[in-house]
Amino acid sequence: IISYKEIEEATNNFSNQIGSGGFGVVYKGTFAFDNSEVAVKKINTKGLENGCVAEITAMSLINHVHLVKLRGFCKRGLEHFLVFEYMNRGSLDRLLFDSETILNWSERVEIALGTARGLAYLHEGSANKILHLDVKPANILLGDNLQVKIGDFGLSKLLGPEQTKLFMTLRGTHGYLAPEWLINNAGITDKSDVYSYGMVLLEIIRGSRNSSIVKGENGEPRWLYFPRLALAMYKRGQFLELADPRLEDQVNYEQLEMLIKLALCCL
Ligand code: ADP
Repeated sequence: IISYKEIEEATNNFSNQIGSGGFGVVYKGTFAFDNSEVAVKKINTKGLENGCVAEITAMSLINHVHLVKLRGFCKRGLEHFLVFEYMNRGSLDRLLFDSETILNWSERVEIALGTARGLAYLHEGSANKILHLDVKPANILLGDNLQVKIGDFGLSKLLGPEQTKLFMTLRGTHGYLAPEWLINNAGITDKSDVYSYGMVLLEIIRGSRNSSIVKGENGEPRWLYFPRLALAMYKRGQFLELADPRLEDQVNYEQLEMLIKLALCCL
């Protein structure tokens, strides 16, 4: 447990906001005692389930190279602050959709594999099976040398499926949602995360600096709402033409094939 005062000091009175999402606002901070950088997430919902301290404690005990480490927690009235290790290259969505950097194929494969390993650990490796329920590029964070870690795991457990679904709807991230979400929550299993992972893989393969195809902005076709159509197009080689043109001269077909096979296994 970290005191509110320590969080205030570390974030310099919440002066450096680095992002905001459906669950709350994220601030960058530095702890004076060890000079480590942290990301402080302030959760802006009153709906945290009772037992949440137990859940957060359980989350903080999870250690895996491909999962963002929860370093501490603070509760102040209705406000909850989660303190995570800081990932200095930001999230995959920025890297894919906003940045001028273009990822090469071996970087893409590393990101896809790291995400898969983190997810597999959540599903199988820890004492309790954890469903992420919000796998998408914004929750895949990158550190030095593009070290990959999944963030926001366990939050769905804190919030419960109804609220998680509500937030996802609000954030317009439906494209990553497995169809069973839209039909009935009861059918949600770890395979729902696998579906979302398949969507993420397709975006990693396409790797466009244009906005996410899942979100279908700018009148683009929402290919990812039709994963089988998308995959059929891949097989016929058409999908690559829709990809970022800067990718073409550096396509490594072996690695591309490997990613597509991974995506096919997921869907
Ligand atoms: P969302 O609710 O959309 O999943 P978050 O609230 O988790 O998004 O985070 C919003 C943004 O804050 C992320 O897209 C990312 O850029 C940044 N962020 C979140 N956690 C970290 C972290 N541990 N290190 C660095 N940046 C982070």
